[in-house]
Amino acid sequence: MKRMMKSAAVLLAGTMMAGLAVSGGPGSGVRGVDAQRLVNARNEPGNWMTHGGTYAEQRFADLSQITAENVGQLGLAWYADLPTNRGQEATPIVVDGTMYTTTSWSNVMALDAVTGKVKWHYDPQVDKARGHSACCDVVNRGVAVWNGLVFVAALDGRLIALDANTGKVKWSTQTFTDPTKPYTITGAPRVVKGMVIIGNGGAELGVRGYVTAYDASTGKKKWRFFTVPGNPANGPDGEASDSVLAGKAGPTWHGEYWKGGAGGTAWDAIVYDQELDQLYIGVGNGSPWNHMIRSEGKGDNLFLSSVLALKPDTGEYLWHYQTTPGETWDYTATQPIILSTLMIEGRPRKVLMQAPKNGFFYVIDREGGQLISAKGFATQTWATGVDLKTGRPIENPEARYLKAGSLVMPSPLGAHNWHPMSFSPRTGLVYLPAQELPQLYQNEPGFERREGAWNLGIVLDPGTVPDDRAQFKAIKSALKGKLIAWDPVAQKPAWEITYDGPWNGGTLATAGNLVFQGNGVGDFQAFNASTGDKLWSFNAQTGIIAPPVSYSVNGQQYVAVMAGYGGAYPLTSAFEDPREARNGRVLVFKLGGKRQLPKATQPVFAAANPPGDAFTPAQVTEGARIYATNCAFCHGPDAYSSGILPDLRRSAVLADADAWKAVVHDGALKANGMIAFSRWYTPAQVEAVRAYVGQQAKKLQAQEAAGGK
Ligand code: CA
Repeated sequence: MKRMMKSAAVLLAGTMMAGLAVSGGPGSGVRGVDAQRLVNARNEPGNWMTHGGTYAEQRFADLSQITAENVGQLGLAWYADLPTNRGQEATPIVVDGTMYTTTSWSNVMALDAVTGKVKWHYDPQVDKARGHSACCDVVNRGVAVWNGLVFVAALDGRLIALDANTGKVKWSTQTFTDPTKPYTITGAPRVVKGMVIIGNGGAELGVRGYVTAYDASTGKKKWRFFTVPGNPANGPDGEASDSVLAGKAGPTWHGEYWKGGAGGTAWDAIVYDQELDQLYIGVGNGSPWNHMIRSEGKGDNLFLSSVLALKPDTGEYLWHYQTTPGETWDYTATQPIILSTLMIEGRPRKVLMQAPKNGFFYVIDREGGQLISAKGFATQTWATGVDLKTGRPIENPEARYLKAGSLVMPSPLGAHNWHPMSFSPRTGLVYLPAQELPQLYQNEPGFERREGAWNLGIVLDPGTVPDDRAQFKAIKSALKGKLIAWDPVAQKPAWEITYDGPWNGGTLATAGNLVFQGNGVGDFQAFNASTGDKLWSFNAQTGIIAPPVSYSVNGQQYVAVMAGYGGAYPLTSAFEDPREARNGRVLVFKLGGKRQLPKATQPVFAAANPPGDAFTPAQVTEGARIYATNCAFCHGPDAYSSGILPDLRRSAVLADADAWKAVVHDGALKANGMIAFSRWYTPAQVEAVRAYVGQQAKKLQAQEAAGGK
């Protein structure tokens, strides 16, 4: 089992009337979406105006035309093919009959929400080379809308305001402090009080995290908050974070932490609390991951893995809660945050709820950041619980892999990742897409930072994927995904469903007592929100990872979801892509919908293409090491690709030394996103990688000859 687990660690109401009332009224179209309308979004259940439905981000559609009784009649109303075929993670925004959504590579589309007709399409023409810095695919999680503008944050750091009617650029601003650093943006911007707020990602490669607020009308910067301290020798940043970084955070860092950027990227959760006028930022992991390397193994490293509360107008620090002090496992707290008022021990408490990667479900009093409760929702071996007096985890010391490697759950993919959870005020339950994956963490003693490359500070061993098919299948079947209906007051599951694999879609709860969720193998499903009974399913022909939304136009309720498999898990795992359809799609459903998807064709894979050259064992060994620390993040561990990106064992250039060098060393395919590795490796080292991949291709060829896959 240990071997299996190590291998498995492959890295890595009146509702209709409300909807009708706004359609075609004086506030028609996004031109009418002003601050007041965003604050009152709850009164317009027919629209989905913000990322999480309303500012509280409960992802609860207060629409009840589609119910547990009639959901069996749900059918496809329309679908639209997307211009990109990588992972689709966006939450569509729907206002007054128009849908605004994003695709991978930060494209934006406006569609008629009733017919699916494309009104306009905007491609920001992101340089594909930026894809190398995107740890977890070139995805985008959606737009924000306000006053006739649609805001998208592109992978390359540009925050762009588009005219909602035409898709023309109104303004564009570069949000990266240094665009030469490996920053990326995959998150959805949020509009708060006339400002657009956005963070970024990149802590796997080595950057310093921050969030910035821009004037929504002009794109002019209002404030910035760095989540971790910089190099003290450079003095203060002149930003909103200066005093709290010097006072509270600074002393929690040790050694030359700034050299690796320190991390703390805020790549997803940004939530506005309209009741308390506070802004909550989910802060990411440390860079590098390994606390021993990053900060000499000392200190909590604020504000890594924390929920930060800021004053929206100025970005001033209010309070924080750190979920994982001294983070060393990539345990981000960037995961979606839901606001509600819960009755706890007989009194109403204004709470925020978060289920970060580390496997604990946190209920926090948002008035001052006090921890109310925390319980494990999935297997976590790094801690046995959370001490409610101190708010700190009770760690298992071995999990820190100081003396020996340690097999730990959850993995860096998290017990819960970005896939949004939802909350139904009717059932009082949170619908949480969870997963169970292990990771072997091993300290990297001679760690040397490589600018612009992955810098984790842990050893990633080649040879973790068994060539034996039966063993391979056994590992795959040991990895589970779950839909958990979590009672946040009792801090325990009310019901749960186990999926065959991890990396399933975000969830939507509705007033029809339904929960909608797509899964990684392409079933889009509806469950009874109270019992978990599966009531309806649709074959989407591709894995679904995005969260559904619901809206209504002219009295008709629709459910929409972006379909398209991708993201961190399939890129870094060895398991075949479940896609039949190769392009992404928007799928929209209504009662009595009769549209059908075109028949899918099975993907055709090229045969293994091993080189005929004779390589030395030393070449193969060196190539395996270089592959594991560079190539596996996109092309899969041990050259087993999931199929999202090319399987190099089948590559046309593998058999040709010159062609291989031209691509891998010189960057001949950089327009496709395959950058030049000459920055870090010599031609001889690149040839060693060919020796290794060639060996893997030979094994594949033998399997194919034997009739296996
Ligand atoms: Ca991370």
